[in-house]
Amino acid sequence: MRDAPPTLINFDHLEALPAALVAGRGSVGVRALAGADWLLRRKSDGRWLAVVAGARVRALRPGALRAARGRMDEARLVECLARPLRPGVPRTLPLAPLRALLAGLGVDADYGRTRGLALVPEPARLAFAGFDRYRRPLWLTAAAARGWSAMRAAARDEGVALDAISGYRSHAYQLGIFRRKLARGQALEDILRVNAAPGYSEHHGGGALDIGTPGEPPAEESFEATPAFAWLVAHAARFGFTMSYPRGNPHGIVYEPWHWCLKR
Ligand SMILES: [Zn+2]
Repeated sequence: MRDAPPTLINFDHLEALPAALVAGRGSVGVRALAGADWLLRRKSDGRWLAVVAGARVRALRPGALRAARGRMDEARLVECLARPLRPGVPRTLPLAPLRALLAGLGVDADYGRTRGLALVPEPARLAFAGFDRYRRPLWLTAAAARGWSAMRAAARDEGVALDAISGYRSHAYQLGIFRRKLARGQALEDILRVNAAPGYSEHHGGGALDIGTPGEPPAEESFEATPAFAWLVAHAARFGFTMSYPRGNPHGIVYEPWHWCLKR
């Protein structure tokens, strides 16, 4: 376990992060993490639910933990943390809960078809891909993490600095954005002009990342004028990365020179 690369273990409503990668917030947070192997976090809002040390689960929010683990009991949860995915176990989480959420949100059943976008399942495991610009752990699929690391090193060798703005994002995280905007009185159709509907972002699959360069604001079109962008256009394909949303893309998504995805 100690020699394995750090892994995020993904469940329907909660995720387990290696405690060593989580910065404790305040004295309560630091104390909670001391001696822990894993932190269990609610996906919808990032709330800390429990810490796990060996086979011992210490609930920080017992009711919320019970609700988030659903029918999976604590013993099963601990078992999932202790061993890698067994052969035959699906590599992605089921999409059924997401379809129910989308219907509840009022997203048109035709949304994906009319935009040429597919539902993107979440991986059951994600690999630690270093830290992003904000010193948060960056999570990607194992293949995308290897590709990003190699690409970043190659750019650095040529004097070009690339940094990650954001990688994997869960369905629940995207849904949380929608719920907050709806609660502030925004109309669903207005939100859909700016944010992909939950489930339809390439970031859910762990292969996509938003790339920046020091001194440039994140996710702005001005990125296209940087040496970092010119380097990506010339070299990213060699590492398997493609710019998903060029100008005039068929999905009707705004031009995103910062968004690159590992394509096989
Ligand atoms: Zn993006």
